[in-house]
Amino acid sequence: MMNLILLGAPGAGKGTQAEILTDRLGIPAISTGNIIREALKNGTEMGLKAKSFIEAGQLVPDEVVIGIIRERLAQDDCQNGFILDGFPRTVPQAQALEEMGVAITKVIDFEVEDEEVMRRLGGRRVCEGCGASYHMQHKPPKVEGVCDRCGAKVVTRKDDAPETIRDRLTVYHQQTEPLKAFYAGKGLLVEVAGETIEENTSLTLKALGAEE
Ligand code: AMP
Repeated sequence: MMNLILLGAPGAGKGTQAEILTDRLGIPAISTGNIIREALKNGTEMGLKAKSFIEAGQLVPDEVVIGIIRERLAQDDCQNGFILDGFPRTVPQAQALEEMGVAITKVIDFEVEDEEVMRRLGGRRVCEGCGASYHMQHKPPKVEGVCDRCGAKVVTRKDDAPETIRDRLTVYHQQTEPLKAFYAGKGLLVEVAGETIEENTSLTLKALGAEE
């Protein structure tokens, strides 16, 4: 049983690593960002609640995302473990996870400089259908504009616009970064700062004691 949290700034590579780790470890990857974007696309009540926050690069209120996670973790496929990508993002969210009785195995913190985030997010693309992550230089889809995994359209995220990225970085430093100390204090934090996607996967698997 492995319950993992992926921590890091926007563009640190959490989504990309979550996709790789879900295949390697055979446990589901859960992205609150993907769940919210899907709700937005479908025009659900939760999507409507989240819309103004996500588009402004702000965090969606804790009670909304905590509700999403509570429902998702109760599903059958999470019983042998899971990878959380983009949750928790605030200390109250981490506390809510504890109150749900979830025992975290490790928190992998992907460290990237702000300047590198600004560079990376300009080239980032995402699949509209399944949420898979791409990058124009580092990880282009095999066929331009088409998702390798599901064949849906690969697009630029609205919140990857340069002015929104700066706000998201500020939000990260103010509200999410304190989670490093929170989890370090529990002896759960592992810092990963590889140069490439492959190196980060390898460092993560090593930290988990999982064979490559
Ligand atoms: P992401 O795809 O993880 O970058 O998330 C995109 C956006 O979804 C964030 O900028 C927030 O507006 C919202 N979001 C995703 N996860 C959370 C969370 N755990 N808490 C609050 N807002 C979130």
